[in-house]
Amino acid sequence: MGSVGESQPDYDVLVIGAGLSGCYACHRMHQLNLKVKVLEAGTSVGGTWYWNRYPGARFDSESYTYAFYFSQEILDEWKWTEHYAPQAETERYIRFLCDRLGLWDDIQFNTSITKAHWIEQDRLWQLTDASGRTYTSRFLITGIGVLSNPTLPNVPGVTDFKGPAYHTSRWPKDPVSFEGKRVGIIGTGATAIQAIPVIAETAKSLTVFQRTPNWVITRQQKRPDRPLNHLQAIPLRNSNISPEEMELIRTGYPQMLEKINLTRMGFMHSASTDSIWDSTPEMREAFWEELWALPGFPFWLSNYKEILIDEKANDLVTEFVAKKIKERVHDPWTADKLVPKNHGFGTRRVPMETFYYEAYNRPNVRLVDLLETPIERVTADGITTSQEELKFDMLIYATGFDAVTGAFDAIDFRGTDNHSLRDEWKDGPRTYLGLTVEHFPNMFMSMGPHQAYGNIPRSIEYAVGWIAECIGYCQNQGITRIEATDQGVQEWTDHVHDLGKNLLSNKVDSWMTGVNKNVAGKQKRIVARYMGAAPEFREKCNGVAGGGYELFSKR
Ligand code: NAP
Repeated sequence: MGSVGESQPDYDVLVIGAGLSGCYACHRMHQLNLKVKVLEAGTSVGGTWYWNRYPGARFDSESYTYAFYFSQEILDEWKWTEHYAPQAETERYIRFLCDRLGLWDDIQFNTSITKAHWIEQDRLWQLTDASGRTYTSRFLITGIGVLSNPTLPNVPGVTDFKGPAYHTSRWPKDPVSFEGKRVGIIGTGATAIQAIPVIAETAKSLTVFQRTPNWVITRQQKRPDRPLNHLQAIPLRNSNISPEEMELIRTGYPQMLEKINLTRMGFMHSASTDSIWDSTPEMREAFWEELWALPGFPFWLSNYKEILIDEKANDLVTEFVAKKIKERVHDPWTADKLVPKNHGFGTRRVPMETFYYEAYNRPNVRLVDLLETPIERVTADGITTSQEELKFDMLIYATGFDAVTGAFDAIDFRGTDNHSLRDEWKDGPRTYLGLTVEHFPNMFMSMGPHQAYGNIPRSIEYAVGWIAECIGYCQNQGITRIEATDQGVQEWTDHVHDLGKNLLSNKVDSWMTGVNKNVAGKQKRIVARYMGAAPEFREKCNGVAGGGYELFSKR
């Protein structure tokens, strides 16, 4: 790589995070023959799939689509064992990638980056870790995740509890037993919804503290006589993948890739082109029953085209799902509390469940409605609400993340003229293509704000690929400094905002609109992600690259 100024960087490229983004970035930098180092806070690779090892954690989209497609060798060799892989299998998959691609030597673990500062005179990034050690590079790639900065509830006494207390995203590697324990869990998002039925199986009692219920749809079913980890083939629900079936999946990879490259969210499920207003109530009911019987996302993603933009259409589908929930929960008070009242179906990220609602029919499970009886404080031996003092042996915080911009806020990013990224984004992110930011030259983000999320590994494969091509272009052209222009950032940010104008999800508080009531300054909705379809996103980014990196300044 070309030289600038007095100091030469230690590396051509530094990557923060060894999740799917960081691992793939490392591979692509190897292909460019660049000197790369991936700096990772954890003790191994996996990112999201390293940290989130809570009971019940697994993919809620099809394993074989929620993966990388860039290497035929890996596609040929890797065998998925379940349609919706559990966390341990995904972690193994990512370790397998690192083995096959020879990445381990270039990943440094136990390294938590606290600062990333741009040094203009030398055109390099200087990173500092928690121990004070520094690292420099010409280019910087962030692979720090969308949901990686966990947050605890902002209630008094949250650290006072004397028994074991875990955030689901910082779950211990050693098994945790719930046997004979009184367990309290706060939160009812996608994470809690996976964990609750599993914990309920062995805990003496499980008390669920719910603030906002979610619209949860059914994903998989277990045979009632088998524990959850022995999922059996039941048509259309989660099941083991036999070797013969894996062979069929393998031969179908090219067609599968073709399909997911065309869909809005990068999954196999395309949006319906049918209008709800062209169907009779009977036709609607039949269509919804058909979708309901399918595993995974189709009820959300393949529904009538208006349900996520037209409130009247959304009301109808919401009513259908509310009826489904009430049918499954025996106690009418609990059933009613589990039905969301403040947002319609599909306007927040829809959690997928395995007997979530049935868990509330067990005698050892109780729901506490925090809207009625809020938590007053966490105590040494439990939780006090406005109504009662509850004693627990274990507390679980399934309270989510300071999402999207939170992982960036956790690091002191400084660009040109000491510009602070935290300050630049305090009213919401401003990016060019979701991949770069003005005042932060030579810095690229995989899964930064304003990118198309959906099927995350598919999005990562594209984002890292784009970044690698851009760095390769700089290498070939002798460019040592590339920066998004103000015009690029303004146009892209306006474009992303425009795309989301009629989406109902933008009128609802959730991590997807950047709201986290536990974090100061994160109470206001922002436009956090790209709102158009994934193919449209890729087309725009390809256009910029094809035009010689339009609206970037290059030196
Ligand atoms: P989340 O959806 O943000 O849910 C956090 C939960 O904690 C919410 O129910 C929230 O209530 C509650 N909470 C937060 N602070 C609280 C407080 N002070 N008092 C009471 N309740 C509080 O987080 P998550 O469940 O970890 O899921 C985040 C995302 O991760 C999902 O949407 C999904 O995209 C991803 N995920 C994916 C999978 C998968 O299978 N692929 C599995 C799990 C998660 P409010 O809603 O009222 O704020």
